[in-house]
Amino acid sequence: IELINQIAAGEVIERPASVVKELVENSLDAGARRVEIEVEEGGARLIRVRDDGGGIVADDLPLAISAHATSKIASFDDLERVATLGFRGEALPSIASVSRFALTSRPAAQEHALRVEVDGGKPQPPRPAQHPAGTTIEVRDLFYNVPARRKFLRAERTEFGRIDELIASLALVRTQVEFRLTHNGKAVRLLRPASDEATVAVRIGDLLGEEFLQQSLRIDHAAAGLRLSGWVGLPTASRAQADQQYFYVNGRLVRDKIVAHAVRQAYADVLFHGRHPAFVLFLELDPLGVDVNVHPAKSEVRFRESRLVHDFLYRTLNDALAQTRA
Ligand code: ADP
Ligand code: MG
Repeated sequence: IELINQIAAGEVIERPASVVKELVENSLDAGARRVEIEVEEGGARLIRVRDDGGGIVADDLPLAISAHATSKIASFDDLERVATLGFRGEALPSIASVSRFALTSRPAAQEHALRVEVDGGKPQPPRPAQHPAGTTIEVRDLFYNVPARRKFLRAERTEFGRIDELIASLALVRTQVEFRLTHNGKAVRLLRPASDEATVAVRIGDLLGEEFLQQSLRIDHAAAGLRLSGWVGLPTASRAQADQQYFYVNGRLVRDKIVAHAVRQAYADVLFHGRHPAFVLFLELDPLGVDVNVHPAKSEVRFRESRLVHDFLYRTLNDALAQTRA
């Protein structure tokens, strides 16, 4: 089992940022309103994610850290309509197999918390602990038992940069959730929960810069069962960066060729001087119209009707951008 978990870990857990992704997505799946991420030494030494979500009941604790246990799919049919971020049930055991791992959790209705430690894949018996309602997961010394992978970790700053970028990408879409991120004891981000257009705009400005906010177009258009909303940087924006391109499908950040092509085409027609447009876009569609189960890292998707999606994106963005040309 341990070897299997380590192999699975190789697929899903490449670097500290992949750990943070899995843990924070679990927190969001658990309905957290507040997620705190503490990182030391770029995540190689410590990653601690604390949330105020639903917690894990005592009986489910052993399951949560064993292979292919997920509480998120009850039947095969559900695979077709994955609404939560996690759905494979392999993240926690994978992470626990390549780190010194501890999970402490308390559902609101449970009198005290339980803490389980896993050292290199071997779970210790749960012990009572102090913890407010919610869950904290600590991952220390990532890859301490997989030297080949540890060797591939980049400089502390680089690894932390990826974590920060990941938190930004989650905070852009989960605007009602508070995020706090610290590195080596220093607060790096404090993103207060947004409740309306104005506070959402504050968050977008925090994450992408005031300039983006001021030099972007608000998009919101629905047709043929598809809805596209968000912000697209104007062709006149002086500073537009390739790394400020966020596209979400049903709340999930994706990299997709069809999407990229449609966006590029839409801009190409309004003379973007060959620069990379910055954008934050949210596409919503019937979950049956999109397959998210393509890769464990879950950033790829496959649209059932890719032509329809492509043309909808192209037309919506092109129409919006064309108006700015006048
Ligand atoms: P998945 O997210 O694919 O179900 P994971 O290995 O990431 O698999 O998590 C296993 C299970 O542990 C989840 O299905 C969930 O029930 C529970 N779990 C993990 N993290 C949390 C959390 N922060 N709060 C509540 N439950 C959690
Ligand atoms: Mg998960």
